[in-house]
Amino acid sequence: MSRHSSDPACIFCKIVAGEIPSSKLLETDDAIAFLDINPVNHGHLLVIPKGHAANLAELSDDQAAHVGSLLPRLSRAVRAATGADGFNVVVNSGRVAGQTVDHCHFHIIPRRDGDPVHWPWPHTPYQGDELARVKSRIEAELRRGCAVNRPCVPISHKNPCLPPCIASRRVATSRARSRHPMVDMGSRARASDRR
Ligand code: AMP
Ligand code: ZN
Repeated sequence: MSRHSSDPACIFCKIVAGEIPSSKLLETDDAIAFLDINPVNHGHLLVIPKGHAANLAELSDDQAAHVGSLLPRLSRAVRAATGADGFNVVVNSGRVAGQTVDHCHFHIIPRRDGDPVHWPWPHTPYQGDELARVKSRIEAELRRGCAVNRPCVPISHKNPCLPPCIASRRVATSRARSRHPMVDMGSRARASDRR
């Protein structure tokens, strides 16, 4: 039996187990890389940990370090093999961010001048003290337990084993969400996009 955690409903766990085919390019004890079946550009590949983790925030530090260590080598190979001018490495986490497969994966997407990929995203400068307030909130979260080698607040709502302090914070967070300044800022940015 595999020592890696697995979700029987997860398509990438099935690829890890060899239950469905993939165009595998590289395999280590703890990760695999394979071609994306529906690429943004030819040579677009995915790098995943073998153990199931729904998204980036749920990766262990060891999983992240291992998968991360493979990215430069794979990027060089994709760039050389496709003659790309550059590449994007992207990790979508959560539906709102475009994640469609809930097993953490790093996209390596080769890029060429004039290709049809839309980049960059719209950027909006901070106003007033927004930057300082956002920075201090993130720093507080880091102090509270989102530091290295500790499990952070899972994004997945499947995990019923949250410590009470995190579970109660999640309820408070969802209540506060509508009046959260970062949400307000997002709405404002979208409103300014429409103008
Ligand atoms: P994301 O939208 O970030 O979750 O990316 C999921 C990616 O997985 C998409 O780019 C899909 O084309 C790709 N994908 C889905 N199923 C497979 C599969 N069986 N083999 C290879 N790539 C896949
Ligand atoms: Zn999985």
